[in-house]
Amino acid sequence: MPRVLIIGAGGVGQVVTHKCAQVPEVFSEICLASRSIDKCKKIASQIKRDIQVEKLDADKVKDTVKLIKKFKPDIVINVALPYQDLSIMDACLETKVDYLDTANYEPKDEAKFSYKWQWPYFERFKDKGIMALLGSGFDPGVTNVFTAYALKHHFDEIHELDIIDCNAGSHGQPFATNFNPEINIREVTAKGRYWDNGKWVETDPLSVSKMYDFPDGMGSMKIYLLYHEELESIVKNFKTLKTARFWMTFSDNYLKHLEVLRNVGMTRIDPVDYKGQKIVPLQFLKSLLPDPASLGPLTKGKTCIGCLIKGIKDKKIKTYYIYNICDHQMCYKEVQSQAISYTTGVPAMIGAMLMVTGVWKKPGVFNMEEFDPDFFMEKLNKHGLPWTEKFL
Ligand code: NDP
Repeated sequence: MPRVLIIGAGGVGQVVTHKCAQVPEVFSEICLASRSIDKCKKIASQIKRDIQVEKLDADKVKDTVKLIKKFKPDIVINVALPYQDLSIMDACLETKVDYLDTANYEPKDEAKFSYKWQWPYFERFKDKGIMALLGSGFDPGVTNVFTAYALKHHFDEIHELDIIDCNAGSHGQPFATNFNPEINIREVTAKGRYWDNGKWVETDPLSVSKMYDFPDGMGSMKIYLLYHEELESIVKNFKTLKTARFWMTFSDNYLKHLEVLRNVGMTRIDPVDYKGQKIVPLQFLKSLLPDPASLGPLTKGKTCIGCLIKGIKDKKIKTYYIYNICDHQMCYKEVQSQAISYTTGVPAMIGAMLMVTGVWKKPGVFNMEEFDPDFFMEKLNKHGLPWTEKFL
């Protein structure tokens, strides 16, 4: 029976551990490893099943190799930070164990996330007969699967894709991020980028916005164009796409704080000298902001993440919208986390489930849209992220 090693005991790691524990018929043994063992112990104490815990610095390949050899997992779920992706992939290669993550690699000293570091692992994973599934969260992750599902069932060709991510929840804090603050702020303050007729177009950070009317009474909200990592693989794997964009909502309050923090240099990622010591302002800011995991009991409201797709079916133009709505408080009731961690952790568990049961299984390194979406879509409905589709 499959054994799973989960690396990273943050907001997402907590949800993955709960959700893996809910399916003992799939994951017979679970080990949660992270830099701070106390966080692993806290998560394990919330769960009735026995969860093994280990202290691990996953930047050290040899330590991860040692733990993999000791626990003997069938799969490693990496929900630490994107900085650890390559070192954990190296450890999986050395021990011939399958790998899954939810965010692509980015170097610490450059706010540049890209698959250009992980895709070249393809041959090495293939030669060892093991698989890596990249970006099995919600966005990336479910959004890639939604796009593949739309093409499989509703279109002959897809031409336009808008991925729209709305968090209409409120945590009552003056300023906080819903997932790791360092990763979140690096993403939001980076230049925007979208695919337009065969080329990438760059925009100034948060300079393009419009109103969007969300379903199920959520109302109209302002969405901002960002660059997001799934665009890179989606554009590569869906060749008929002429336009592909990613949009996200932000409250005015969040944007005001971010503007001030940027203006005073607190979002910088280069080391600065402070009283003879080198500090990275964004890392210092992270240490002051609320831990996203602590927002669980405070957050109320809903998220809505989906794909708006335009294309052709039987020579007619069609517009299609597919989305999930998730309620922060319902998530907290189930796994003691808010919806951002929940919507990431559930797809990570589902991806791992499909891999260990052999449903999505081939040697090499893959993105989510490269597999039959139907199995994943069925599991989303079953494991807490039901979806709705509409023709507009
Ligand atoms: P958190 O910061 O809450 O958790 C990260 C965890 O990883 C922490 O427990 C941290 O330990 C641990 N960690 C960091 N470095 C190491 C290391 N070297 N070795 C071992 N453990 C380490 O982040 P989140 O849970 O919010 O996010 C987790 C991942 O999910 C990120 O990669 C994020 O980008 C991704 N994500 C993906 C989304 C998607 O939809 N695809 C959406 C949201 C997040 P410590 O506590 O000691 O710092």
